[in-house]
Amino acid sequence: MAKLVLKGDAFTGSEFIEQGIIIVDQSNGTIEDAGRQGEVDEPSGETRTIADKGTTILPGLIDTHVHFFGTPGPNIIDWVTVPEPLAAVRSVRDLYRLLYAGFTTVRDLGSKVGTYLSQAVKEGVIEGPRVISASRPLSRTGGNDDPSPLPLPIAEELSYSYHCDGPWECRKAVRKVIRDGGEAVKLYASGSLSQERKGHVHFTVDELKAIADEAHLAGLKVAAHAWSEEGLMNVVEAGVDSIEHGMWLTPEIAQAIKKKDIFYVPTLSVFNATKSNRANAYREKFVKRHFTEDMELAKQFNLKIVSGSDYFGADIVPHGQNYMEILSLAKYLGNTQAIVAATSRAAECLGLNNAGQLKKGFSADLIVVKGNPLIDLEAISPARISYVIKNGKVFTPNA
Ligand SMILES: [Zn+2]
Repeated sequence: MAKLVLKGDAFTGSEFIEQGIIIVDQSNGTIEDAGRQGEVDEPSGETRTIADKGTTILPGLIDTHVHFFGTPGPNIIDWVTVPEPLAAVRSVRDLYRLLYAGFTTVRDLGSKVGTYLSQAVKEGVIEGPRVISASRPLSRTGGNDDPSPLPLPIAEELSYSYHCDGPWECRKAVRKVIRDGGEAVKLYASGSLSQERKGHVHFTVDELKAIADEAHLAGLKVAAHAWSEEGLMNVVEAGVDSIEHGMWLTPEIAQAIKKKDIFYVPTLSVFNATKSNRANAYREKFVKRHFTEDMELAKQFNLKIVSGSDYFGADIVPHGQNYMEILSLAKYLGNTQAIVAATSRAAECLGLNNAGQLKKGFSADLIVVKGNPLIDLEAISPARISYVIKNGKVFTPNA
């Protein structure tokens, strides 16, 4: 198969290279070499060259927090009652949208169809970003994703989470996720604002530790939905790998997160997108502070901030618009660091050591955009993406 040569200004995931060159070996889907033009040997023989003026080459985008609910509805009852085959078919459409919006890797932190989507993409049956699926999240009985007005057996049947109580049930739930083909573990350590719950603690520290330990034994990362002081301190103590949402940071908590080197995924855009839909005073108190003090503290303590939109495919948070999170982060981090949060650092958060950078030997996941997003971040909006290359395969979204 031919070599693919990309020429132009490039952001590698850590540095900007003027007049860069990236050589893709399409036979194995990796980057054969990357650097400055003139300093990298160009391949002889059959090549295809992409060198459009005024464009920038970047690593493919990564969204570390999505859900494939496959329903236009915004509420828990929609998510748990949509027929699974329909959710799967709609999610195939969502995968296309994500890929054509420049996302080459996404992590599904809980759905009924994520592991199957992941498998179908791996098999090449459908086109889409690489899906790292957490299969079903872990929640306690009567906690998140327990449609509690319904009788328990029906709620458990419909829920997209595994309900578990006590350390051993929690370990068993992790084992079920692994059995499903899950490649990450998601737990709910606090209530969920999207389900009109409060910030109360939802697992004991013993339960959290059991989950983290069991997941780590299998080499899986643990993503913890956590907010409120107690919820955050509990997951830090349990040793999770990333904190999702993370409202109500204090200097003490931020320091503890930093000390344990835990990634911080503030999921700003979902709060913006669902503002009018879910307005209530309790929610607003936390969200307002999240956009001010939390983000200031996260910056001040130099937390490893990562892009995760928490978009789930409903009409108010459609897949394909996930770059909104990168725009939201840029308000605090600036354009360059916001792109880092959605490329190289996102890959690090997911434990991928061969993605998220334009680097020799890495997976050939790249995008070519019109303009320079380090100056004008709208350049990563779907309308301005000329090429998406995933594993060396070329897609042309706006052709
Ligand atoms: Zn989520």
